[in-house]
Amino acid sequence: VTENPQQPEVNIGLVGHVDHGKTTLVQALSGSWTDQHSEEMKRGISIRLGYADATFRKCPEEAEPECFTVAESCEEHNVETDVLRTVSFVDAPGHETLMATMLSGANLMDGAVLVVSATEDVPQAQTEEHLMALDIIGIDNIVIAQNKVDLVDRDRAVDNYEQIKEFVEGTVAEDAPIVPISAQQDVNMDLLIEAIEEEIPTPERDETQASRMFVARSFDINRPGTTWEDLSGGVVGGSLVEGKLEKGEDIELRPGREVDEGGQTEWKPITTTIRSLQAGGKQLDEVRPGGLLGLGTGLDPSLTKGDALAGQVAGEPGTLPPTWHSFEMDIDLLERVVGGDEEIDEISTGEPLMLTVGTATTVGAVTSARDGECEVKLKRPVCAPVGAKIAINRRVGARWRLIGIGTLKE
Ligand code: GDP
Ligand code: MG
Repeated sequence: VTENPQQPEVNIGLVGHVDHGKTTLVQALSGSWTDQHSEEMKRGISIRLGYADATFRKCPEEAEPECFTVAESCEEHNVETDVLRTVSFVDAPGHETLMATMLSGANLMDGAVLVVSATEDVPQAQTEEHLMALDIIGIDNIVIAQNKVDLVDRDRAVDNYEQIKEFVEGTVAEDAPIVPISAQQDVNMDLLIEAIEEEIPTPERDETQASRMFVARSFDINRPGTTWEDLSGGVVGGSLVEGKLEKGEDIELRPGREVDEGGQTEWKPITTTIRSLQAGGKQLDEVRPGGLLGLGTGLDPSLTKGDALAGQVAGEPGTLPPTWHSFEMDIDLLERVVGGDEEIDEISTGEPLMLTVGTATTVGAVTSARDGECEVKLKRPVCAPVGAKIAINRRVGARWRLIGIGTLKE
């Protein structure tokens, strides 16, 4: 039990094929949370971030695993449940974006629940893509939720279970527990919570480091027509991966904003004050790493509107990594295109690449390419330290496909 049970302390990615039940599962686990809080808060931050928090609890009068629940009281025994911890589920709708962000080391996920429907053959396309992504970044705290067991008979469930076992063999999920559930019918949620508690521990974090936050979303929470006096400052949302943030302190955002300097455009960092902090559906004076958070700032909301600051890095002024307009990177190409059999050609000079660095996605033109390394000129600059991981995508037909991982060089 933590000091502040309401601040989420760990980020858990919901991955898996479309329609396999990720969103339904988040709703099943976080229902009590969403009921407790105002529409406004939900609309303002959590829905737009694509996350929901759930507090796992334990009924003191029940044995394991039946004791595990998200309910605040244990009705049969008429007692309050004990809080274990609050977790954040990241249920990002854009599969490819989510994967690229994961791969670029934004530390948005400390572990993952891979949702696999028992009604379909294993693997479906995104089941494979997502597991491959987890494998590449080495996220090995994984629980597999075999969902929709209410729709299949016992034999099909067992067959499907065997297919999952075979599919994960030799991957990072090889030893992951497979928990049969029905997210929609609330079946085996206690077993799933138990598995998450065991397999996805809260990582150790260093709070003495300078604060570092990856901005995933930014928005204007004001209703149209709000008068100037009632206007709230711009909101940014994302993940604090190091240090802590306090209400009232200043933060810097990089690359910042593009300003016109005598006919020349230039990117300048933005500095602002933290006016409010929101995590776990609560207003807080201080937040620590873990979970996702929303940050009310003193910025003009027109600067944060429509995700304008998504992809930026925020933190203690003067401590942020450099802003790059072009950089060199070492390249590790994948053996084949994710979810396909095609081999991957070397990167060549002149070709456009889509790069994800932290939560930032930008297009870069390759200005020179050699064996295992290349130089790119970016359309939009990024803020990243030397050594940052970069997800590299190439245009194949109508879509961008992941072809490899880069490492930013001096
Ligand atoms: P997502 O694309 O992975 O987020 O999938 P959704 O959560 O949106 O679920 C897709 C559909 O499957 C919805 O119509 C859900 O109601 C349904 N569904 C999800 N989980 C279950 C389940 O356990 N049993 C049944 N019968 N339907 C489910
Ligand atoms: Mg969904």
